[in-house]
Amino acid sequence: MDTPIASVSGIRGIVGESLSAAMLTRFATAFGTMVNTAKCRHREDTRNNSERPNTVVVGRDSRASGEMVRLAVVAGLISTGCRVIDVGLCPTPTILFMAKELNASGSIVITASHNPVEWNGLEFALESGRLLNQAEREQFMQIYESMDCNLAKWNQQGSVETYEGAVNRHIEKILDCDWVNLDVLRARALNVVIDCGNGAGSVASPHLLRQLGCRVVEINCIPDGRFPRSAEPTPDALEQLCTAVFANGADIGLAHDGDADRLVIVSEDGVPVSSEYTFALSADFILKKRCGDVVGTVSTSLMIDDIAARHQSRVHRTPVGVGFVVEKMRESNAVIGGEGTGGVVFPEIQYTTDGLASIAAIIHQLAESNTTVSALVKSLPSYTMCQKKLESHSQSLSEAVVQRAAEIYAKGSQSTENEGVFLDLTDGVKRVWGDSWVNIRKSGTEPVIRVFSEAPTADHAELLCNETVETLKGLIES
Ligand code: MG
Repeated sequence: MDTPIASVSGIRGIVGESLSAAMLTRFATAFGTMVNTAKCRHREDTRNNSERPNTVVVGRDSRASGEMVRLAVVAGLISTGCRVIDVGLCPTPTILFMAKELNASGSIVITASHNPVEWNGLEFALESGRLLNQAEREQFMQIYESMDCNLAKWNQQGSVETYEGAVNRHIEKILDCDWVNLDVLRARALNVVIDCGNGAGSVASPHLLRQLGCRVVEINCIPDGRFPRSAEPTPDALEQLCTAVFANGADIGLAHDGDADRLVIVSEDGVPVSSEYTFALSADFILKKRCGDVVGTVSTSLMIDDIAARHQSRVHRTPVGVGFVVEKMRESNAVIGGEGTGGVVFPEIQYTTDGLASIAAIIHQLAESNTTVSALVKSLPSYTMCQKKLESHSQSLSEAVVQRAAEIYAKGSQSTENEGVFLDLTDGVKRVWGDSWVNIRKSGTEPVIRVFSEAPTADHAELLCNETVETLKGLIES
């Protein structure tokens, strides 16, 4: 049997190939051990000798294998004495929100996010829904590998409870935000088509939209374990949504990935909008309501800088990955953060990407602006992104090449010929000009170097990518 691959905050694999019940139980047992160990340390620190078992919130997306994974995970957790609260089939942000609400010591989200239907996986979070950081991931994998687990005695096994109202509680929290004005929303009564891809948002998101005063047409909102389109809401996967928006004369189309932490938009004329606009439009909306910093990653569109400038706000850029964004948001007390993939973080709700809160922000932005999605898109400076990948022979070669490129560009940026170039080494190597950039990063999972660029025109973005690829090819061959 193959081994599952590490994802950003957990593991993913193909059920029946790289993911088995035995392996899932082992991961859950290791996680229960980690949670108990962390709590013991905490107890010692606070001199609190309470013997209450640690609570772990569990929930899952709509995959057909979800029930098998749930049973395997619950068995592992209760074998370490944890109290499991099962919130059922819910969006990932709802599960993590419940971990925060219930002040849980840990949570396991059963999802493979946007991977194909045969995949499943686990995402792990510690206290109050905080995803594991790098050091914690290493500690966790060490417990998993060594199987040095603390199993509970026969009469100290954990327990399982089900919790029915998670989606309603999450929606209530969103509606409670001071930037939500139901009078404005109900007056505009937007026509919305939503495509959840039969994923975890299938029940929650149409329900939220109705609460926001919208008239809703649902497509692919039956969470029956079959995915009628790719779980990743790329423009190609949204043909049915685009047609439905146009046919229904809707104001906007919305789509989630498989676990509904991401949101993408289709305009009123049935055209998919780049996923970069979910964060950009949400940020423009939130910054109108409150002052504060914005956090994006090195590969988030420059639109975010233009929007921040509009509101005299400051932008921080982190390495790619929601964990880094959230860390920086906490540190800078930012009012919004996100990634170009359509994942946006609203700190007053929780510190994780939240596709439901994104719906509320986007619908609000549209309702308040009294205009169309395509007009909102046109109101922002236009950029085009380009992506290329370059095979290298090994991950260590990729690393050496990226390192060498950093040295070469560092020298180059000191010459007068390259004046005006800023070198950013936050994640890989990024060269930034006023209105364009190119970023080189090695892949974490395969022997590949990725090149990303952005510029005001497609030709310019492609030129930046191509020039960089040629330089890297020379470095690989030398
Ligand atoms: Mg996701």
